Amino acid sequence: MSVFNVSRLGEGYAIFDRDGVCISGVFSNQHVAEASVDHRLFQLKKSRRNCLCCGEEFDSYGKQNRMCGSCRERTAEEDFQLLI
Ligand SMILES: [Zn+2]
Repeated sequence: MSVFNVSRLGEGYAIFDRDGVCISGVFSNQHVAEASVDHRLFQLKKSRRNCLCCGEEFDSYGKQNRMCGSCRERTAEEDFQLLI
């Protein structure tokens, strides 16, 4: 069973937690409610990590995300420069 479930509520759809408690407003469309579930799951996965390059703490979105946004951009520019 997932952490969140989308079910009918009145004329629309709502998100319910594992205990069956409604944790959202009412969405008019099931797909919008499911997109909101995806966003909530994404938010749950993020955690604070230290960047491997600069050591600054940042919001990481999983094990594969070990560099902060600034270092990621700088590294991408360096890679581009190597091709020239
Ligand atoms: Zn960094």
